[in-house]
Formats: sequence, structure tokens, C-alpha cells
Amino acid sequence: MGKNKNNKKSRNLVIFTLIIILLFIALFVLNQMTEKSTGQEGVTAFENAPAIKDQPTLGSSDAKISIVEFGDFKCPSCKAWGQQMMPRLVTEYVDSGKASFSYVNVLFHGEESELASLAAESVLLQAPDDYWTFHKALFAAQPSSNHDSQWVTVENILKIAEASIPEVDLDQLEKDLNRKNASTQVSSDVEMVKAFNVRQTPTIMINNKQIENPFEYNKIIEVIESELK
Ligand code: CA
Repeated sequence: MGKNKNNKKSRNLVIFTLIIILLFIALFVLNQMTEKSTGQEGVTAFENAPAIKDQPTLGSSDAKISIVEFGDFKCPSCKAWGQQMMPRLVTEYVDSGKASFSYVNVLFHGEESELASLAAESVLLQAPDDYWTFHKALFAAQPSSNHDSQWVTVENILKIAEASIPEVDLDQLEKDLNRKNASTQVSSDVEMVKAFNVRQTPTIMINNKQIENPFEYNKIIEVIESELK
């Protein structure tokens, strides 16, 4: 009896171990399918570039290069990236028609990230031509010290909008915020963040290539130039 029991136990253990090994292999294969090494250091390639159809986009969405920033209005590095890196890229590649630039919301800082994203998406729906002015004004309003303090509130957003895009219907914007009218747009951004395995903000993608260090300007240029060839 005792021997049979032990046999059964060890057989179960073998089966269990096999299942675990198979699971690891399956996970590995799955991971290989979505993220491929490009041979380029500091770059991860995905199957596809992020879809930019409903995203705020500077330049022509038909451009050969699609630059996508996954950013968070509450994130200080995103504010810095927007001031230091984005203007250079826009001048060199978007203004010349070689690239488009799009922005996808990331909600790594909780409720304030969500509220800021809802505000940006609401402005995009209501007054698409005013989007980028408002985008910049929101980042500019992020306090340079103690960014963790609460500054994204409905009241503050309305003040920022009034000062930067006064032609926008502020009553409508207030309703949009209180009713979370752009929640579908925000949710679809959250899905993209998962699909592209975004773990830091900002995360920059050039077509299907994700750049490891968003502040390495030369690397971004290298990837853009190799994609243009
Ligand atoms: Ca969006």
C-alpha cells in the first residue's frame, strides 16, 4: 500500500513539474512573439506600431515615421521630456513631414492622472485644434517642486483651460469632467499601455520600436533614420 501511494505521489510530482515547465515554455514563446530583440541595443521591437487613429497627432498621420509618447501629466520626467526633447523632434521630423507625433495617456499616478487625461481627451473631442495648447499648458502647470502635491483638480483644470484656450466651452468641459465623458478614450489608452508593456513614463515608440532611454536623443534619431531608409 505504502509503496503504491509513494509511486502515485512521485508520478503526480512528475506531471506537476512537466506542467510547470510547459507553462514556462508557453510564456517564453508568447513573450518572444510580442517583444523581439532588434539587434539594436536599447530598443525593443513589437509586432506593430501603436494605432494612432483616435490619438492627438501632430503632423500627417500618413508620415513614414510615427512617434508615440506614452506620458502622464503628473510625471515630472514627462514634463522635462516635453520641454527638452519633443520640440527638437517636432522641428526636425514633424515639421518636415517625415514623422507624426502622437500622445497616449498613462495613469501611473492614480486619480490625478485620470482627471488630467479626461480633461485632455475632452478638449480633444470638443476642440481638437486646441488640444496641443492645452496639453502644454497642463504640463506647464505641474509644479516643479513637490509634484506629488495635489494640483490636478476640476477647479484647477478649468482655470488652466480658461487661461490657455479661452474659446473652449468651459461649462461643457466642467460637465465632461464631472461625468467622465471621455472615459472610453482614457480606457482605450490604458489598454494600449498594457499591450505595449509600458512600465515607465515617458515611453517613446518610433513605429514598432520602443526606446529604452527616452532621454537618449541620439538613439531616437538613430532609430528614426534607420526606419526612414
Ligand atoms: Ca488617447
